[in-house]
Amino acid sequence: MDISSEQVYEALAAKGVANIHHANSVITACQFLRTGSLMSRGTVDRNGLFQTKQASDDIDKKYGIWFDVFADSVDIHDRAKWANKYGPVTFVLDIKLIEEASTGRVWVTKLNPTKWEGKSREECWFSSAEDLKAYFVKGCFDQMIVFRHCGGILPFKDYLKEIILDNPKIKTEEDEVDYYSMAFGALRLSMTEGRIDVPLHKRVCPPECSCVADYQGDRVRTREMYLPKI
Ligand SMILES: [Zn+2]
Repeated sequence: MDISSEQVYEALAAKGVANIHHANSVITACQFLRTGSLMSRGTVDRNGLFQTKQASDDIDKKYGIWFDVFADSVDIHDRAKWANKYGPVTFVLDIKLIEEASTGRVWVTKLNPTKWEGKSREECWFSSAEDLKAYFVKGCFDQMIVFRHCGGILPFKDYLKEIILDNPKIKTEEDEVDYYSMAFGALRLSMTEGRIDVPLHKRVCPPECSCVADYQGDRVRTREMYLPKI
């Protein structure tokens, strides 16, 4: 479980993981850019910042991972061909962030925490560098990289490579401004405020991606993801 960050980095790099990914809502992503740090859901909540509720929030609190920062070894939207439930903004970060995460420990889940009920610690988390080398699979959605005991704040400035923004193809009912353009502008402004200069790309979806249907099928949630009332 408590594997050194160097060993986690080496094991994942050996499996071909070059980048890690973190998806979030537009407003939370803007906050991250202004501060130059990813924040755990617990930290965002504690700071009184808005975030879209997730089904997994109570589970995260129950298992003591509410103040941990989660990342994936692949871009889930691209791999799964659906809208990432954590949000339309994807941060692409260099895997070296793991090695140099000096503020805490890096753990890797074996199972998604939503499946932890009744499972042992060894079934939930990778327990050694050997375990990781043998069983880590790039792109397995259950296997998440978790920055633990970092105070819920993970500075990323030197490691952020690019930001990918989804286009839900929806306009506001009030004034017909499209969500994508508004989100793009908000992210750009936050990058300027945070002195971050990386490419901000419109997502190019894989063939048969369902994200536009996903976004348009749940307009209340999509609105929260793009322009929450605060
Ligand atoms: Zn898509």
